[in-house]
Order: sequence, then structure tokens, then C-alpha cells
Amino acid sequence: MSAERAELLAIGSELLDPWRTDTNGAYLSRRLGEHGIPVRFRTVVGDRVDDIAAAFEVALRRSDLIVATGGLGPTVDDVTREALARALALPLQEDAAILSWLQERFRRLGIDMPPRNRRQAMVLQGAEVIPNRLGTAPGQLIRAGDSAVVVILPGVPSEMRHMVDEWLLPRLPSTDRYVYRILKIAGLNESEVDRRLTPVCDTAGAVDWTILAAPGQVEIHLRERVPAGGTAAGVERLERDIGAVLGTHLFGRDEATMEEIVGRLLAERRDTVAVAESLTGGSIARALTEIPGASSYFRGGVVCYSDDAKVLCCGVPATLLQRHGAVSEAVARAMAEGVRSSLASTWGLAATGYAGPEGGPGGPPGTVHLALAGPPGTDAVRLRVPGDRGVVRLRAARGALDLLRHALIGKPA
Ligand code: ATP
Ligand code: MG
Repeated sequence: MSAERAELLAIGSELLDPWRTDTNGAYLSRRLGEHGIPVRFRTVVGDRVDDIAAAFEVALRRSDLIVATGGLGPTVDDVTREALARALALPLQEDAAILSWLQERFRRLGIDMPPRNRRQAMVLQGAEVIPNRLGTAPGQLIRAGDSAVVVILPGVPSEMRHMVDEWLLPRLPSTDRYVYRILKIAGLNESEVDRRLTPVCDTAGAVDWTILAAPGQVEIHLRERVPAGGTAAGVERLERDIGAVLGTHLFGRDEATMEEIVGRLLAERRDTVAVAESLTGGSIARALTEIPGASSYFRGGVVCYSDDAKVLCCGVPATLLQRHGAVSEAVARAMAEGVRSSLASTWGLAATGYAGPEGGPGGPPGTVHLALAGPPGTDAVRLRVPGDRGVVRLRAARGALDLLRHALIGKPA
């Protein structure tokens, strides 16, 4: 089996609606890519049998590996099997082994198998059955002539993933593979990252790279095609060179998140942190507590949105608020110092600002003051964030965590 031109079909009417994304496609692109199989097309198709059959027919003309997910369930709208049977002009046959496996599965749950589940035992003539440990819909692999292989898998992401990892990938030919690396950068905007990295990336050679920006974070995506048994020397070298240019702005790679990195730095130093949040409304606390084990370093936080709350919960002197206004460096500092002392933490982190759409006496919307109180004293930063309310709040939260990260890096473990 060769697989030079892979194509993915995501089947399910809900995937055509705006609120469901084809995450299976992203997963498969990545896993096949790592296996050296480039994905050339991705199609999303609703639950109509005619449309699915047409999508398979198109795919069969231009691709040699077709992986479809979804529509293998027991309900009437699950018609992937029928559509593929039509596209390949092959009959569906009941598979006795699957049927008894299904019946046994229901028996163990203490219920009679609903008659409609019987459909899940229908297999295309000549197909190999792909076992599903986590659900009731088995997958199938079918060779269409000499040229193409079609794989159908359930849509449920967890089921699809384990079947891909445990069953499908080991059976696919592996010659070259793609190695991916994501480098994550904080504290610099996209054009600044681009400017600083142009000389480095001009030497990227065979490594593909792209810069992707998200609020308060820039990512560099690297991809290298590596021969079987080889190493991703280009990616490794480029990562080192990028690190040398960006220094501590480079905070993590691949799945790592800012809150995870900050959490690890705190834990290593046995430090604790408390937060006082105004415009971020608790999202700094939320990010920190996403991480398992956060209780060892996160003391707690206050959302002090009103002036009163800043006085009563963070001990900000009322006179300071009158003199400087809530969106000011002085108030940010007092919030950080106040929450640090009331929660007896190593660090106190604070954010105040105008999320927008309105600004105020302290400046236009997007004016943000961050402060960090800690053993070396109190540090403050002012940001001017362009963008809507959501972007401003996110950048403020990420900026605050980055301020803490920089302080922790500067303090040996
Ligand atoms: P089941 O036996 O569970 O019914 P199925 O093969 O019929 O399996 P679907 O009914 O199509 O799968 O989808 C099951 C769930 O998986 C739904 O919540 C659906 O939204 C989700 N899902 C399906 N396809 C995708 C996809 N491409 N990306 C992300 N989620 C998906
Ligand atoms: Mg279904």
C-alpha cells in the first residue's frame, strides 16, 4: 500500500453548523503527517447518503488513502456504511462476530440490544474490521482495487483516536515522517517576532515554518520531513537558533501552556502566588487553577471589580483611588501588595485596566496596568492593547502571568 495522497472526510451534519468543528480532521492530519503521509484534501459532508457517496467517489478518483470519520452509529442518520457501499458498488453483509460482540457488550450492561444496533454489524464485502474498545461502532478498512485504501471510523473523537493510534498507524507504510514543533512566545507581537526571526528563518532550509498570532501569544510552527530512522536535525537546530534570538520571550513548546510553565516554576521554588484581578474578572486565577497540583502554589484570588472591593478586599487606600483612579499604576501596585500580604503569599499579582469598549480617566480602552509584588519589591507594567474586550482581557491575563514568569526565571530555584 502506498499512501502519497491522503484525503479526509468528516461526516456529520452538525459539523456544517457553526458551533461544531472538525477536530478529528486536525488530529488525523497531524498523526498522518507524523507518519510521513501528507493530507491533500479535507471535506466536511452532512448526513445525506447521496452526498456522502458523492464525496467518496470524488475522493476515490484523486486520493490513495481516504479516512472518513462519523456516521457509523446505530441511528438512521448514520449512513456512512451505506454510502461507501454505493460508491464502491459492494454489498454490505452482516458480520456474525461483530453481532455477537455487540450482543455480549449489551448483555454485560444488563440490557437487551436495541434492534437498530444490528446495523453496526454490517460490513462491506472484503473489509477488515477495526475493533473499537471504547464504543459500539467498529471501523472498517477496505481496499478499493489496487490503488486506494478507504478507512471508516466512528466520529466520537476518543474512539477515533485510539483506533488510529493502535490499529491504523501501525498498518500504514512509513517511509518519511513529519516532525512538528510549536514554539511559544510571549511579550512580543507578531511583527516584532517576524522582524527578529527573519535572519534565522532564512536559514531554515528544508524546515517549513509559519508564525501564528493569538492574543498575548505568538507561535512558530516548524515542520520537517525526516527519512525513516533519521532525526529532525533541522527542527532542533532552528529551535536552538530561535531560542538564542528570542531569549526568555520563548516560554514553551508544543502542548505547554503559560499557566503550566508558571506553575512549574512556582513549584520548583516552593513559592506561592495570590492574585487581585479587576478587568480580568478571575481569568488569571482560572488559568492558574487549570493545572493539576495548583493547590501547592496558588493561595487564592480576589476579583475586586469596584473601587470599594479594591479598598475592602485588597486594602487599597481610598485616597490612592481618589488621587490616581482605579486604572493606574499606583492602584495596581497597591492591589498586588495588598493581596500578597492578606494571603501571605510569596508573590501578589494584580491587573487593572479598561477592557473596553469605553476608556476612562486613566486612558483609552485597552489601557492595562499589571503589578507584581514579591521578595525583590514591586514591579509594574503598562500595556496598551488594541482589540476588543475579549482580546484585551486575555492579553491582560497572559501579560500578568508572563510578568510572574519573568520574575521567577530571575530567581534561582
Ligand atoms: P456513534 O456510534 O457514537 O453514533 P458515529 O460514528 O455515528 O458514532 P457520530 O454520531 O457521527 O459518530 O458522532 C458522534 C460524536 O462525535 C458527536 O458528538 C459528533 O459531534 C462528534 N464528531 C463526529 N465527527 C467529528 C469530527 N470530525 N470532529 C469532531 N467531533 C466529531
Ligand atoms: Mg452517530
